[in-house]
Amino acid sequence: MAGPPTTTASPRRATEAAFQQCINPACAATFGVGEAHFACPRCGDLVDVVYDWDRLAVPKSLKDFEAKWSRRLDPLAASGVWRFRELLPFAPPEKVVTIGEGRTLLQKADKVGRAVGMDPGRLMLQYEGMNPSGSFKDNGMTAAFTHARMIGARRVACASTGNTSASLAVFCSATDFGFKAIIFIGSGKIAYGKLAQALDHGALTIQIVGDFDDAMRRVREVADRLGIYLMNSVNPFRLEGQKAIMYRVLEASGWEVPDWIVVPGGNLGNSSAFGKAFIELKHLGLIDRVPRLAVVNAQGARTLNELYSARELRWRSGLADSAKVDAYYGELDATGVKASTIASAIEINRPVNLKKCLRALDFCDGVVREVSDQEIMDAKSWVGAGGLGCEPASAASVAGARKLREEGVIAPSERVVCILTGHQLKDPTATVAYHGGDREQFEKVLGARGVKRAGFANRPVVVPNELDDIIRTIALYADSAAPAS
Ligand SMILES: *Cc1c(COP(=O)(O)O)cnc(C)c1O
Ligand SMILES: [Zn+2]
Repeated sequence: MAGPPTTTASPRRATEAAFQQCINPACAATFGVGEAHFACPRCGDLVDVVYDWDRLAVPKSLKDFEAKWSRRLDPLAASGVWRFRELLPFAPPEKVVTIGEGRTLLQKADKVGRAVGMDPGRLMLQYEGMNPSGSFKDNGMTAAFTHARMIGARRVACASTGNTSASLAVFCSATDFGFKAIIFIGSGKIAYGKLAQALDHGALTIQIVGDFDDAMRRVREVADRLGIYLMNSVNPFRLEGQKAIMYRVLEASGWEVPDWIVVPGGNLGNSSAFGKAFIELKHLGLIDRVPRLAVVNAQGARTLNELYSARELRWRSGLADSAKVDAYYGELDATGVKASTIASAIEINRPVNLKKCLRALDFCDGVVREVSDQEIMDAKSWVGAGGLGCEPASAASVAGARKLREEGVIAPSERVVCILTGHQLKDPTATVAYHGGDREQFEKVLGARGVKRAGFANRPVVVPNELDDIIRTIALYADSAAPAS
């Protein structure tokens, strides 16, 4: 029977106001927050953090959170995650691990909006690159580290396309609670900025021969065998922290709910967390309407789009047709298809949070699209020319918004928030290959991915080391170097 999606479990089973519960309604096993489960020990499904809100003190209005700004010397009020801790109330305040994450920016982006096809003032970019490790992952990491500290974990591990490991390494090195970082990455698949962070922040970095999906499988096995705490987004506490991205979008919009949230989809932790945030805010009566959610895959890692848009896989109150998923993964294996996109952060074919993302799409009347690497790189150049800059995966949100605009799914007057998930300097290789004008480099980095043109490239101009030539060049180019339109 189809009911509304829920993240609020039957309080009968709970002995505490915050607990964990398997999302499979046929199982619905519950566990205390003092335990660590990265899959339901009974049925293997994903686990949620669930609250019995009736027993918790939640502000009557979202506006009440603004009062915390007057207490910004309190690290918990200054954190853009823990400022909202009444909405993720699983941890005692003295156990919180925070490094100042979540001070982000919601910027009106009219230049980018023009390229997307929006009316002025209607496209906003939620820039997560200002987080300590330069991506949105810090929002989740602060919550997962807090849980790890609550249960006394020391060795923490993840498989990563780069940003999860960068964030994990930063949290281990920036804190003094004895955490030791262990990172699994696929070979040759990690952007240099992210690898640099893992190494510089002192993480044990294990590069296995394989891709992200292989690394993910291995880290789960190792975590099981050695009792290591797993920091991937199968960890339900990570998603609790990532809900705060939506709280801040609302806060920066004067608590007005936008019409659309557009987010890149990789492992689908972010989209899942956003959905959970809105389910809970609606349940608590703190919002009266819910934005629509658009999740954007890269064409070379299109599992969600294939399953949701083509094969019509749906949440169905937690009873999604897993045979459809197994059949698709079987086809991927049989044909030897591996995920492949310049947007390395979403180069994932077996998204671990697929089911939770279906719940989010169900609740937020969602749509899924895929965009090519060409569209991603062009959109990335608009974001750069618009002033913020981002890594390729982040630009999938902007490319997806344009696609939905062209299809007429998004109207030019609607209020659209695209999530810029990671900092521009995470992947300078892609940026320089696009703009740099070195044909060989372009072919190697982008041509191999099917990118044919750098249509919005801002090329460096090569000039002899002569003053007259330099002056002539400036006269020739300075006023004509037009940004992308
Ligand atoms: C992790 C990541 C994504 C994908 O997010 P999911 O929650 O895995 O879907 C997108 N962009 C960037 C920059 C990331 O680091
Ligand atoms: Zn279960």
